[in-house]
Amino acid sequence: MSDETNKTEERKSLNFIEQIVEKNLAEKLNDGRLQTRFPPEPNGYLHIGHAKAVCMDFGIAQKYGGVCNLRFDDTNPTKEDVEYVDAIREDIKWLGFEWGNEYYASDYFQQLYDFAVDLIKKGHAYVDEQTSQQIADQKGTPTTPGTDSPYRNRPVEESLDLFQRMNAGEFPEGAMTLRAKIDMASSNMHFRDPIIYRIIHTPHHRTGTSWHVYPMYDFAHGQSDYFEGVTHSICTLEFVPHRPLYDYFIDLLKPQESNYRPRQYEFNRLNLTYTMMSKRKLLALVQQGLVAGWDDPRMPTLCGYRRRGYTPEAIRNFIDKIGYTKYDGMIDVALLEHAVREDLNKRATRVAAVLDPIKLVITNYPEGQTEQFDAINNPEDEAAGTHKVTFARELYIEREDFMEDAPKKYFRLSPGREVRLQSAYIVSCTGCAKDDQGNVTEVYAEYLPETLSGRSDSARKCKGTIHWVSCTDAVDVEVRLYDRLFIDEDPSAVEGKELAELLNPDSLKVLHNCKAEPFLLQGKAGDSYQFKRVGYFSPDIDSTKEKPVFNRTVSLKDTWKKVVAKE
Ligand code: ATP
Ligand code: MG
Repeated sequence: MSDETNKTEERKSLNFIEQIVEKNLAEKLNDGRLQTRFPPEPNGYLHIGHAKAVCMDFGIAQKYGGVCNLRFDDTNPTKEDVEYVDAIREDIKWLGFEWGNEYYASDYFQQLYDFAVDLIKKGHAYVDEQTSQQIADQKGTPTTPGTDSPYRNRPVEESLDLFQRMNAGEFPEGAMTLRAKIDMASSNMHFRDPIIYRIIHTPHHRTGTSWHVYPMYDFAHGQSDYFEGVTHSICTLEFVPHRPLYDYFIDLLKPQESNYRPRQYEFNRLNLTYTMMSKRKLLALVQQGLVAGWDDPRMPTLCGYRRRGYTPEAIRNFIDKIGYTKYDGMIDVALLEHAVREDLNKRATRVAAVLDPIKLVITNYPEGQTEQFDAINNPEDEAAGTHKVTFARELYIEREDFMEDAPKKYFRLSPGREVRLQSAYIVSCTGCAKDDQGNVTEVYAEYLPETLSGRSDSARKCKGTIHWVSCTDAVDVEVRLYDRLFIDEDPSAVEGKELAELLNPDSLKVLHNCKAEPFLLQGKAGDSYQFKRVGYFSPDIDSTKEKPVFNRTVSLKDTWKKVVAKE
Protein backbone atom coordinates (compact mmCIF):
# COMPACT_ATOMS: atom_id res chain seq x y z
CA MET A 1 0.00 0.00 0.00
CA SER A 2 1.35 3.45 -0.85
CA ASP A 3 1.82 6.12 1.79
CA GLU A 4 -0.97 8.12 0.21
CA THR A 5 -3.47 5.26 0.48
CA ASN A 6 -2.43 4.73 4.07
CA LYS A 7 -3.13 8.34 4.87
CA THR A 8 -6.56 8.26 3.27
CA GLU A 9 -7.50 5.14 5.22
CA GLU A 10 -6.47 6.85 8.43
CA ARG A 11 -8.43 9.98 7.54
CA LYS A 12 -11.55 7.98 6.88
CA SER A 13 -11.49 6.49 10.33
CA LEU A 14 -11.32 9.88 12.06
CA ASN A 15 -14.62 11.11 13.43
CA PHE A 16 -15.82 14.55 12.36
CA ILE A 17 -14.61 16.25 15.52
CA GLU A 18 -11.14 14.76 15.18
CA GLN A 19 -11.07 16.08 11.62
CA ILE A 20 -11.96 19.57 12.84
CA VAL A 21 -9.32 19.44 15.56
CA GLU A 22 -6.61 18.26 13.14
CA LYS A 23 -7.50 21.06 10.74
CA ASN A 24 -7.50 23.70 13.50
CA LEU A 25 -4.17 22.51 14.87
CA ALA A 26 -2.66 22.55 11.37
CA GLU A 27 -3.82 26.14 10.78
CA LYS A 28 -2.55 27.16 14.26
CA LEU A 29 -5.92 28.40 15.40
CA ASN A 30 -5.72 29.71 19.02
CA ASP A 31 -1.91 29.52 18.70
CA GLY A 32 -2.19 25.80 18.12
CA ARG A 33 -3.69 25.15 21.54
CA LEU A 34 -6.19 22.36 22.19
CA GLN A 35 -8.21 22.68 25.38
CA THR A 36 -11.44 20.83 26.11
CA ARG A 37 -13.49 20.33 29.26
CA PHE A 38 -15.97 17.85 30.65
CA PRO A 39 -18.74 19.94 32.25
CA PRO A 40 -21.06 17.82 34.42
CA GLU A 41 -23.69 19.38 36.60
CA PRO A 42 -23.20 17.78 40.05
CA ASN A 43 -26.88 16.85 40.39
CA GLY A 44 -26.56 13.10 39.92
CA TYR A 45 -24.18 10.25 39.18
CA LEU A 46 -22.57 9.79 35.78
CA HIS A 47 -24.31 7.40 33.40
CA ILE A 48 -23.26 5.60 30.24
CA GLY A 49 -24.30 8.66 28.17
CA HIS A 50 -21.82 10.77 30.11
CA ALA A 51 -19.19 8.13 29.38
CA LYS A 52 -19.62 8.92 25.71
CA ALA A 53 -18.95 12.61 26.40
CA VAL A 54 -16.03 11.77 28.75
CA CYS A 55 -14.40 9.58 26.09
CA MET A 56 -14.72 12.41 23.57
CA ASP A 57 -13.60 15.31 25.77
CA PHE A 58 -10.69 13.51 27.42
CA GLY A 59 -9.92 11.22 24.50
CA ILE A 60 -9.43 13.95 21.95
CA ALA A 61 -7.21 16.01 24.27
CA GLN A 62 -5.13 12.90 24.95
CA LYS A 63 -4.85 11.99 21.28
CA TYR A 64 -3.68 15.43 20.14
CA GLY A 65 -1.57 16.48 23.13
CA GLY A 66 -4.09 18.96 24.52
CA VAL A 67 -5.59 19.29 27.96
CA CYS A 68 -9.06 18.42 29.22
CA ASN A 69 -10.24 20.06 32.43
CA LEU A 70 -13.02 18.95 34.68
CA ARG A 71 -15.55 21.70 35.28
CA PHE A 72 -18.50 21.30 37.56
CA ASP A 73 -21.36 23.40 36.21
CA ASP A 74 -22.69 24.09 39.67
CA THR A 75 -25.15 26.89 39.02
CA ASN A 76 -28.21 25.44 40.73
CA PRO A 77 -27.74 24.91 44.51
CA THR A 78 -31.24 23.45 44.90
CA LYS A 79 -30.26 20.29 43.04
CA GLU A 80 -26.54 19.92 43.60
CA ASP A 81 -24.45 18.24 46.26
CA VAL A 82 -20.83 17.34 47.12
CA GLU A 83 -21.84 13.68 47.15
CA TYR A 84 -22.22 13.97 43.39
CA VAL A 85 -18.98 15.89 42.96
CA ASP A 86 -17.03 13.09 44.66
CA ALA A 87 -18.81 10.36 42.71
CA ILE A 88 -18.19 12.09 39.38
CA ARG A 89 -14.46 12.35 40.13
CA GLU A 90 -14.28 8.67 41.03
CA ASP A 91 -16.14 7.55 37.93
CA ILE A 92 -13.98 9.55 35.53
CA LYS A 93 -10.85 8.02 37.07
CA TRP A 94 -12.37 4.56 36.90
CA LEU A 95 -13.03 5.04 33.19
CA GLY A 96 -9.30 5.67 32.86
CA PHE A 97 -9.02 9.44 32.40
CA GLU A 98 -7.25 12.26 34.21
CA TRP A 99 -8.15 15.91 34.10
CA GLY A 100 -5.80 18.88 33.99
CA ASN A 101 -7.43 21.36 36.37
CA GLU A 102 -10.57 21.04 38.40
CA TYR A 103 -12.81 24.06 37.94
CA TYR A 104 -16.22 25.11 39.15
CA ALA A 105 -18.66 27.47 37.45
CA SER A 106 -19.16 28.86 40.97
CA ASP A 107 -15.54 30.10 40.82
CA TYR A 108 -16.79 32.58 38.20
CA PHE A 109 -19.84 33.88 40.07
CA GLN A 110 -18.16 37.25 40.67
CA GLN A 111 -16.98 37.56 37.05
CA LEU A 112 -20.40 36.58 35.77
CA TYR A 113 -22.11 39.02 38.11
CA ASP A 114 -19.80 41.84 37.00
CA PHE A 115 -20.50 40.97 33.38
CA ALA A 116 -24.25 41.06 34.05
CA VAL A 117 -23.90 44.51 35.65
CA ASP A 118 -21.95 45.61 32.61
CA LEU A 119 -24.71 44.34 30.33
CA ILE A 120 -27.31 46.33 32.30
CA LYS A 121 -25.17 49.47 32.05
CA LYS A 122 -24.87 49.06 28.29
CA GLY A 123 -28.60 48.53 27.87
CA HIS A 124 -28.26 44.80 27.13
CA ALA A 125 -30.13 43.56 30.21
CA TYR A 126 -33.03 44.55 32.47
CA VAL A 127 -34.76 43.39 35.61
CA ASP A 128 -38.19 41.94 34.89
CA GLU A 129 -40.73 41.77 37.72
CA GLN A 130 -43.10 39.40 35.93
CA THR A 131 -43.53 35.78 36.97
CA SER A 132 -41.79 33.09 34.97
CA GLN A 133 -45.23 32.02 33.72
CA GLN A 134 -45.98 35.49 32.36
CA ILE A 135 -42.58 35.55 30.69
CA ALA A 136 -43.19 32.14 29.14
CA ASP A 137 -46.61 33.27 27.88
CA GLN A 138 -44.99 36.21 26.06
CA LYS A 139 -42.38 34.11 24.30
CA GLY A 140 -44.44 33.69 21.11
CA THR A 141 -43.90 30.72 18.82
CA PRO A 142 -41.15 29.95 16.33
CA THR A 143 -43.30 31.56 13.63
CA THR A 144 -44.83 34.47 15.58
CA PRO A 145 -42.84 37.11 17.48
CA GLY A 146 -43.00 37.41 21.26
CA THR A 147 -44.39 40.31 23.26
CA ASP A 148 -42.18 42.88 24.99
CA SER A 149 -42.19 42.84 28.75
CA PRO A 150 -43.59 46.06 30.28
CA TYR A 151 -40.24 46.32 32.13
CA ARG A 152 -38.14 45.99 28.96
CA ASN A 153 -37.40 49.69 28.63
CA ARG A 154 -37.10 50.62 32.28
CA PRO A 155 -34.20 52.98 33.14
CA VAL A 156 -30.75 51.43 33.54
CA GLU A 157 -30.44 52.87 37.05
CA GLU A 158 -33.59 51.06 38.18
CA SER A 159 -32.36 47.69 36.89
CA LEU A 160 -28.94 48.22 38.46
CA ASP A 161 -30.48 49.02 41.82
CA LEU A 162 -32.91 46.08 41.71
CA PHE A 163 -30.28 43.58 40.57
CA GLN A 164 -28.00 44.60 43.40
CA ARG A 165 -30.88 44.24 45.88
CA MET A 166 -31.91 40.88 44.40
CA ASN A 167 -28.44 39.67 45.30
CA ALA A 168 -28.59 41.25 48.74
CA GLY A 169 -31.48 38.91 49.52
CA GLU A 170 -34.18 41.59 49.67
CA PHE A 171 -36.70 39.77 47.48
CA PRO A 172 -38.29 36.34 47.62
CA GLU A 173 -37.52 33.71 45.00
CA GLY A 174 -39.50 34.24 41.81
CA ALA A 175 -40.16 37.93 42.50
CA MET A 176 -37.96 39.08 39.63
CA THR A 177 -35.32 37.96 37.16
CA LEU A 178 -32.60 39.53 35.10
CA ARG A 179 -33.18 39.17 31.37
CA ALA A 180 -30.87 39.81 28.46
CA LYS A 181 -32.38 42.39 26.13
CA ILE A 182 -31.88 40.92 22.69
CA ASP A 183 -34.70 40.39 20.21
CA MET A 184 -38.28 39.35 20.99
CA ALA A 185 -38.85 38.57 17.31
CA SER A 186 -35.75 36.45 16.72
CA SER A 187 -36.30 33.20 14.84
CA ASN A 188 -34.09 31.60 17.51
CA MET A 189 -36.29 31.34 20.59
CA HIS A 190 -33.23 31.49 22.84
CA PHE A 191 -32.72 35.11 21.74
CA ARG A 192 -36.10 36.28 22.94
CA ASP A 193 -34.82 38.06 26.02
CA PRO A 194 -33.64 34.94 27.86
CA ILE A 195 -33.59 34.94 31.66
CA ILE A 196 -29.94 35.11 32.71
CA TYR A 197 -30.24 35.42 36.52
CA ARG A 198 -32.76 34.22 39.07
CA ILE A 199 -33.09 34.51 42.84
CA ILE A 200 -32.29 31.37 44.87
CA HIS A 201 -32.00 31.38 48.66
CA THR A 202 -30.86 27.76 49.10
CA PRO A 203 -27.21 27.78 50.24
CA HIS A 204 -24.70 26.63 47.65
CA HIS A 205 -22.47 23.62 48.40
CA ARG A 206 -19.34 25.70 47.75
CA THR A 207 -20.23 29.38 48.13
CA GLY A 208 -22.68 29.03 51.01
CA THR A 209 -24.94 32.08 51.36
CA SER A 210 -22.65 34.55 49.56
CA TRP A 211 -25.02 34.78 46.62
CA HIS A 212 -28.75 35.18 46.27
CA VAL A 213 -28.76 35.42 42.51
CA TYR A 214 -27.54 32.57 40.35
CA PRO A 215 -26.73 32.60 36.63
CA MET A 216 -28.78 30.40 34.35
CA TYR A 217 -26.89 27.58 32.66
CA ASP A 218 -26.97 29.46 29.34
CA PHE A 219 -25.37 32.48 30.94
CA ALA A 220 -22.67 30.48 32.70
CA HIS A 221 -21.62 27.79 30.29
CA GLY A 222 -20.22 29.71 27.33
CA GLN A 223 -18.55 32.36 29.47
CA SER A 224 -16.98 29.70 31.74
CA ASP A 225 -15.45 28.16 28.62
CA TYR A 226 -14.13 31.60 27.70
CA PHE A 227 -12.68 32.34 31.18
CA GLU A 228 -10.82 29.04 31.13
CA GLY A 229 -9.46 29.31 27.61
CA VAL A 230 -11.35 26.35 26.19
CA THR A 231 -10.74 26.05 22.45
CA HIS A 232 -13.10 23.22 21.52
CA SER A 233 -16.27 23.15 23.57
CA ILE A 234 -17.72 19.77 22.68
CA CYS A 235 -21.26 18.86 23.69
CA THR A 236 -24.40 17.12 22.50
CA LEU A 237 -26.77 18.10 19.69
CA GLU A 238 -29.51 19.63 21.84
CA PHE A 239 -27.17 22.58 22.38
CA VAL A 240 -27.00 23.49 18.68
CA PRO A 241 -29.67 26.22 19.02
CA HIS A 242 -27.91 27.57 22.15
CA ARG A 243 -24.62 28.06 20.32
CA PRO A 244 -25.53 31.46 18.74
CA LEU A 245 -26.51 32.73 22.18
CA TYR A 246 -23.18 31.65 23.69
CA ASP A 247 -21.41 33.37 20.79
CA TYR A 248 -23.48 36.50 21.32
CA PHE A 249 -22.45 36.77 24.99
CA ILE A 250 -18.81 36.09 24.17
CA ASP A 251 -18.81 38.84 21.56
CA LEU A 252 -19.94 41.24 24.27
CA LEU A 253 -17.43 39.87 26.75
CA LYS A 254 -14.19 39.54 24.82
CA PRO A 255 -11.93 42.42 23.85
CA GLN A 256 -12.48 43.29 20.20
CA GLU A 257 -8.82 42.88 19.30
CA SER A 258 -8.54 39.34 20.72
CA ASN A 259 -8.72 36.46 18.25
CA TYR A 260 -9.42 33.89 20.92
CA ARG A 261 -12.87 32.45 21.46
CA PRO A 262 -14.17 29.00 22.37
CA ARG A 263 -15.96 27.19 19.56
CA GLN A 264 -18.72 24.72 20.21
CA TYR A 265 -19.13 21.42 18.33
CA GLU A 266 -22.01 19.03 18.85
CA PHE A 267 -22.32 15.26 18.52
CA ASN A 268 -25.24 12.85 18.96
CA ARG A 269 -26.17 11.82 22.48
CA LEU A 270 -26.22 8.20 23.41
CA ASN A 271 -29.67 6.65 23.70
CA LEU A 272 -29.88 2.98 24.59
CA THR A 273 -32.80 0.60 24.22
CA TYR A 274 -34.49 -0.56 27.47
CA THR A 275 -32.67 2.24 29.30
CA MET A 276 -33.52 5.63 30.73
CA MET A 277 -30.71 8.10 31.00
CA SER A 278 -32.16 11.35 32.30
CA LYS A 279 -30.67 12.10 35.71
CA ARG A 280 -34.05 13.35 36.85
CA LYS A 281 -35.59 9.94 36.13
CA LEU A 282 -32.66 8.06 37.66
CA LEU A 283 -32.98 10.14 40.81
CA ALA A 284 -36.70 9.34 40.91
CA LEU A 285 -35.91 5.60 40.69
CA VAL A 286 -33.61 5.97 43.68
CA GLN A 287 -35.94 8.21 45.70
CA GLN A 288 -38.97 6.00 45.12
CA GLY A 289 -36.98 2.97 46.24
CA LEU A 290 -37.52 1.22 42.92
CA VAL A 291 -33.82 0.35 42.83
CA ALA A 292 -31.34 -0.16 45.65
CA GLY A 293 -29.47 3.11 44.96
CA TRP A 294 -27.48 4.92 42.28
CA ASP A 295 -25.14 1.92 42.18
CA ASP A 296 -27.84 -0.72 41.82
CA PRO A 297 -26.37 -3.08 39.19
CA ARG A 298 -29.46 -2.55 37.02
CA MET A 299 -28.84 1.20 36.76
CA PRO A 300 -27.14 2.63 33.65
CA THR A 301 -24.82 4.61 35.93
CA LEU A 302 -21.09 3.99 35.84
CA CYS A 303 -21.13 3.00 39.51
CA GLY A 304 -23.98 0.58 38.77
CA TYR A 305 -22.10 -1.01 35.90
CA ARG A 306 -18.95 -1.18 38.00
CA ARG A 307 -20.80 -3.00 40.77
CA ARG A 308 -22.26 -5.35 38.22
CA GLY A 309 -18.82 -6.25 36.89
CA TYR A 310 -18.59 -4.24 33.67
CA THR A 311 -15.02 -3.16 33.01
CA PRO A 312 -13.93 0.32 31.94
CA GLU A 313 -12.29 -1.26 28.90
CA ALA A 314 -15.59 -2.80 27.81
CA ILE A 315 -17.36 0.54 28.14
CA ARG A 316 -14.64 2.38 26.24
CA ASN A 317 -14.68 -0.25 23.47
CA PHE A 318 -18.42 0.10 23.20
CA ILE A 319 -18.20 3.90 22.91
CA ASP A 320 -15.50 3.47 20.31
CA LYS A 321 -17.67 1.11 18.27
CA ILE A 322 -20.77 3.31 18.21
CA GLY A 323 -18.77 6.41 17.24
CA TYR A 324 -19.83 10.05 16.97
CA THR A 325 -22.21 11.48 14.39
CA LYS A 326 -24.39 14.54 13.87
CA TYR A 327 -27.77 12.83 13.99
CA ASP A 328 -29.59 11.28 16.93
CA GLY A 329 -30.49 7.62 17.09
CA MET A 330 -31.04 4.68 19.39
CA ILE A 331 -28.38 2.06 20.09
CA ASP A 332 -29.36 -1.53 20.89
CA VAL A 333 -28.29 -2.28 24.47
CA ALA A 334 -27.27 -5.74 23.17
CA LEU A 335 -24.29 -3.99 21.59
CA LEU A 336 -23.08 -2.86 25.01
CA GLU A 337 -23.58 -6.35 26.40
CA HIS A 338 -21.67 -7.75 23.45
CA ALA A 339 -18.74 -5.45 24.22
CA VAL A 340 -18.82 -6.62 27.84
CA ARG A 341 -18.76 -10.30 26.82
CA GLU A 342 -15.96 -9.69 24.38
CA ASP A 343 -13.83 -8.07 27.06
CA LEU A 344 -14.68 -10.54 29.83
CA ASN A 345 -13.98 -13.49 27.58
CA LYS A 346 -10.37 -12.30 27.49
CA ARG A 347 -9.97 -11.61 31.21
CA ALA A 348 -12.47 -13.68 33.24
CA THR A 349 -11.23 -16.62 35.32
CA ARG A 350 -13.15 -19.79 34.56
CA VAL A 351 -14.71 -21.51 37.56
CA ALA A 352 -17.45 -23.98 38.27
CA ALA A 353 -20.61 -22.94 40.05
CA VAL A 354 -23.90 -24.75 40.10
CA LEU A 355 -26.91 -22.45 40.30
CA ASP A 356 -29.65 -25.06 40.67
CA PRO A 357 -27.88 -27.97 42.36
CA ILE A 358 -28.79 -31.64 42.45
CA LYS A 359 -26.51 -34.38 43.80
CA LEU A 360 -24.70 -36.75 41.47
CA VAL A 361 -23.36 -39.91 43.18
CA ILE A 362 -20.55 -41.81 41.42
CA THR A 363 -21.43 -45.23 42.79
CA ASN A 364 -18.22 -46.99 41.76
CA TYR A 365 -15.92 -44.27 43.15
CA PRO A 366 -14.50 -45.25 46.56
CA GLU A 367 -16.09 -43.55 49.53
CA GLY A 368 -13.79 -41.09 51.25
CA GLN A 369 -11.43 -40.86 48.28
CA THR A 370 -10.71 -37.50 46.64
CA GLU A 371 -8.48 -36.43 43.76
CA GLN A 372 -7.11 -33.02 42.81
CA PHE A 373 -7.34 -32.00 39.17
CA ASP A 374 -6.07 -28.91 37.38
CA ALA A 375 -8.68 -26.57 35.98
CA ILE A 376 -7.52 -24.07 33.34
CA ASN A 377 -8.07 -20.51 34.50
CA ASN A 378 -8.51 -18.98 31.09
CA PRO A 379 -8.18 -20.74 27.75
CA GLU A 380 -7.80 -17.30 26.10
CA ASP A 381 -4.80 -16.42 28.25
CA GLU A 382 -2.10 -19.00 28.84
CA ALA A 383 -0.38 -16.88 31.48
CA ALA A 384 -3.48 -17.11 33.67
CA GLY A 385 -2.42 -20.63 34.76
CA THR A 386 -4.54 -23.25 36.49
CA HIS A 387 -6.11 -23.92 39.85
CA LYS A 388 -6.96 -27.13 41.68
CA VAL A 389 -10.40 -28.65 41.87
CA THR A 390 -11.37 -31.56 44.09
CA PHE A 391 -13.12 -34.62 42.71
CA ALA A 392 -15.10 -36.91 45.03
CA ARG A 393 -17.78 -39.54 45.06
CA GLU A 394 -20.56 -36.98 45.57
CA LEU A 395 -20.85 -33.94 43.34
CA TYR A 396 -23.33 -31.18 42.59
CA ILE A 397 -24.51 -30.74 39.04
CA GLU A 398 -27.19 -28.52 37.50
CA ARG A 399 -30.65 -29.99 37.81
CA GLU A 400 -31.21 -29.32 34.11
CA ASP A 401 -28.21 -31.50 33.21
CA PHE A 402 -30.21 -34.63 34.05
CA MET A 403 -33.33 -35.85 32.32
CA GLU A 404 -34.95 -39.21 32.91
CA ASP A 405 -36.71 -39.43 29.55
CA ALA A 406 -34.47 -37.44 27.31
CA PRO A 407 -34.87 -36.69 23.62
CA LYS A 408 -32.26 -38.13 21.28
CA LYS A 409 -30.21 -34.95 21.00
CA TYR A 410 -29.89 -34.41 24.75
CA PHE A 411 -26.14 -34.80 25.29
CA ARG A 412 -26.20 -34.68 29.05
CA LEU A 413 -27.06 -37.17 31.79
CA SER A 414 -29.83 -39.65 31.21
CA PRO A 415 -29.92 -43.36 32.07
CA GLY A 416 -27.62 -45.26 29.74
CA ARG A 417 -25.88 -42.15 28.37
CA GLU A 418 -22.33 -40.93 28.89
CA VAL A 419 -21.10 -37.45 29.58
CA ARG A 420 -17.77 -35.90 30.45
CA LEU A 421 -17.45 -34.17 33.81
CA GLN A 422 -15.36 -31.14 32.95
CA SER A 423 -11.61 -31.53 33.74
CA ALA A 424 -12.36 -35.05 35.09
CA TYR A 425 -13.80 -38.40 33.98
CA ILE A 426 -16.44 -39.62 31.60
CA VAL A 427 -19.36 -41.04 33.59
CA SER A 428 -22.19 -43.26 32.52
CA CYS A 429 -25.59 -42.55 34.03
CA THR A 430 -27.27 -45.45 35.77
CA GLY A 431 -30.45 -43.90 37.15
CA CYS A 432 -31.86 -41.64 39.82
CA ALA A 433 -33.81 -41.54 43.09
CA LYS A 434 -37.10 -39.68 43.49
CA ASP A 435 -39.24 -38.43 46.34
CA ASP A 436 -42.94 -39.24 46.87
CA GLN A 437 -43.99 -36.56 44.41
CA GLY A 438 -41.74 -37.94 41.72
CA ASN A 439 -39.14 -35.19 41.94
CA VAL A 440 -35.60 -36.33 41.23
CA THR A 441 -33.53 -36.10 44.43
CA GLU A 442 -30.26 -37.76 43.38
CA VAL A 443 -28.67 -38.91 40.16
CA TYR A 444 -26.44 -41.98 39.88
CA ALA A 445 -23.56 -42.73 37.56
CA GLU A 446 -20.42 -44.85 37.24
CA TYR A 447 -17.14 -43.35 36.22
CA LEU A 448 -14.77 -44.81 33.63
CA PRO A 449 -11.37 -44.65 35.36
CA GLU A 450 -9.34 -44.73 32.10
CA THR A 451 -10.98 -41.53 30.76
CA LEU A 452 -9.37 -38.86 32.91
CA SER A 453 -9.36 -35.56 31.04
CA GLY A 454 -6.03 -34.64 29.48
CA ARG A 455 -4.28 -37.74 30.82
CA SER A 456 -6.18 -40.41 29.01
CA ASP A 457 -4.95 -42.41 26.02
CA SER A 458 -8.41 -43.83 25.62
CA ALA A 459 -10.12 -42.97 22.36
CA ARG A 460 -13.41 -42.83 24.14
CA LYS A 461 -15.36 -39.72 23.22
CA CYS A 462 -18.70 -38.35 24.26
CA LYS A 463 -20.68 -35.43 22.94
CA GLY A 464 -21.53 -33.59 26.10
CA THR A 465 -19.48 -31.99 28.87
CA ILE A 466 -21.06 -30.69 32.05
CA HIS A 467 -19.69 -28.72 35.00
CA TRP A 468 -19.80 -29.85 38.62
CA VAL A 469 -18.48 -29.06 42.07
CA SER A 470 -17.62 -31.55 44.74
CA CYS A 471 -19.87 -31.88 47.79
CA THR A 472 -16.78 -32.19 49.98
CA ASP A 473 -15.63 -28.61 49.57
CA ALA A 474 -18.41 -26.70 47.76
CA VAL A 475 -19.29 -23.33 49.27
CA ASP A 476 -22.74 -21.77 49.36
CA VAL A 477 -23.06 -18.58 47.40
CA GLU A 478 -25.85 -16.16 46.72
CA VAL A 479 -26.25 -15.31 43.06
CA ARG A 480 -28.11 -12.28 41.74
CA LEU A 481 -29.36 -12.53 38.20
CA TYR A 482 -30.08 -9.20 36.55
CA ASP A 483 -32.16 -8.49 33.54
CA ARG A 484 -33.26 -5.31 31.81
CA LEU A 485 -34.77 -2.79 34.18
CA PHE A 486 -37.49 -1.67 31.77
CA ILE A 487 -40.01 -3.65 29.76
CA ASP A 488 -40.29 -1.18 26.91
CA GLU A 489 -37.66 -0.77 24.28
CA ASP A 490 -37.95 3.02 24.62
CA PRO A 491 -39.23 3.61 28.15
CA SER A 492 -38.74 7.40 27.95
CA ALA A 493 -41.30 7.54 25.14
CA VAL A 494 -44.07 5.81 27.09
CA GLU A 495 -46.72 8.26 28.19
CA GLY A 496 -49.28 8.14 30.97
CA LYS A 497 -47.53 5.55 33.12
CA GLU A 498 -45.83 5.82 36.48
CA LEU A 499 -42.15 4.94 36.60
CA ALA A 500 -42.95 1.85 38.68
CA GLU A 501 -45.28 0.52 35.98
CA LEU A 502 -42.52 0.62 33.40
CA LEU A 503 -40.22 -1.73 35.29
CA ASN A 504 -39.50 -5.31 34.28
CA PRO A 505 -40.78 -7.38 37.24
CA ASP A 506 -38.07 -9.99 36.55
CA SER A 507 -35.15 -7.57 36.48
CA LEU A 508 -33.68 -9.19 39.62
CA LYS A 509 -33.75 -12.83 40.66
CA VAL A 510 -31.88 -13.88 43.77
CA LEU A 511 -30.70 -17.50 44.05
CA HIS A 512 -29.73 -18.49 47.58
CA ASN A 513 -28.54 -22.09 47.32
CA CYS A 514 -25.90 -22.03 44.65
CA LYS A 515 -22.81 -24.19 45.09
CA ALA A 516 -19.39 -23.08 43.96
CA GLU A 517 -15.82 -24.27 44.17
CA PRO A 518 -13.98 -22.74 47.16
CA PHE A 519 -11.48 -21.06 44.84
CA LEU A 520 -14.18 -18.42 44.27
CA LEU A 521 -13.85 -17.15 47.83
CA GLN A 522 -10.63 -15.38 46.82
CA GLY A 523 -12.68 -13.08 44.59
CA LYS A 524 -13.21 -9.46 45.47
CA ALA A 525 -15.38 -6.71 44.00
CA GLY A 526 -14.15 -5.81 40.54
CA ASP A 527 -12.89 -9.33 39.72
CA SER A 528 -14.35 -11.13 36.76
CA TYR A 529 -15.34 -14.78 36.60
CA GLN A 530 -16.92 -16.94 34.02
CA PHE A 531 -19.13 -19.53 35.66
CA LYS A 532 -18.58 -22.21 33.05
CA ARG A 533 -21.61 -22.75 30.80
CA VAL A 534 -23.58 -20.19 32.83
CA GLY A 535 -22.37 -16.61 32.38
CA TYR A 536 -20.04 -13.89 33.62
CA PHE A 537 -20.17 -12.98 37.30
CA SER A 538 -18.48 -10.59 39.68
CA PRO A 539 -18.43 -10.44 43.49
CA ASP A 540 -20.78 -7.80 44.84
CA ILE A 541 -19.31 -4.96 46.91
CA ASP A 542 -21.12 -6.44 49.92
CA SER A 543 -19.74 -9.94 49.36
CA THR A 544 -17.75 -11.49 52.23
CA LYS A 545 -16.01 -14.83 52.75
CA GLU A 546 -18.77 -15.78 55.18
CA LYS A 547 -21.56 -14.71 52.84
CA PRO A 548 -20.32 -14.62 49.26
CA VAL A 549 -22.58 -12.77 46.83
CA PHE A 550 -22.09 -12.74 43.08
CA ASN A 551 -23.72 -10.47 40.54
CA ARG A 552 -24.34 -11.74 37.06
CA THR A 553 -22.54 -9.24 34.86
CA VAL A 554 -23.88 -10.63 31.60
CA SER A 555 -25.14 -13.96 30.32
CA LEU A 556 -22.84 -16.09 28.22
CA LYS A 557 -24.85 -15.52 25.07
CA ASP A 558 -27.49 -13.08 24.01
CA THR A 559 -30.56 -15.08 24.98
CA TRP A 560 -32.86 -12.07 25.16
CA LYS A 561 -33.64 -11.92 21.44
CA LYS A 562 -34.75 -15.56 21.43
CA VAL A 563 -36.95 -15.07 24.48
CA VAL A 564 -38.65 -12.06 22.97
CA ALA A 565 -39.15 -13.87 19.67
CA LYS A 566 -40.81 -16.81 21.42
CA GLU A 567 -43.32 -14.71 23.34
P1 ATP B 1 -29.22 14.37 31.84
O1 ATP B 1 -30.02 14.90 30.68
O2 ATP B 1 -29.05 12.90 31.85
O3 ATP B 1 -29.67 14.88 33.15
P2 ATP B 1 -27.25 16.37 31.40
O4 ATP B 1 -26.94 16.62 29.98
O5 ATP B 1 -28.11 17.35 32.09
O6 ATP B 1 -27.76 14.88 31.58
P3 ATP B 1 -24.72 17.16 32.44
O7 ATP B 1 -24.17 16.87 33.76
O8 ATP B 1 -25.11 18.55 32.10
O9 ATP B 1 -25.95 16.18 32.24
O10 ATP B 1 -23.80 16.55 31.29
C1 ATP B 1 -22.41 16.70 31.23
C2 ATP B 1 -21.99 16.39 29.83
O11 ATP B 1 -22.38 15.07 29.46
C3 ATP B 1 -22.61 17.34 28.82
O12 ATP B 1 -21.61 17.79 27.94
C4 ATP B 1 -23.63 16.50 28.12
O13 ATP B 1 -23.77 16.92 26.79
C5 ATP B 1 -23.04 15.10 28.22
N1 ATP B 1 -24.09 14.08 28.18
C6 ATP B 1 -25.14 13.94 29.01
N2 ATP B 1 -25.94 12.93 28.62
C7 ATP B 1 -25.38 12.41 27.50
C8 ATP B 1 -25.73 11.34 26.62
N3 ATP B 1 -26.81 10.60 26.81
N4 ATP B 1 -24.90 11.08 25.58
C9 ATP B 1 -23.78 11.81 25.39
N5 ATP B 1 -23.40 12.82 26.18
C10 ATP B 1 -24.19 13.13 27.22
MG1 MG C 1 -27.34 19.47 31.84
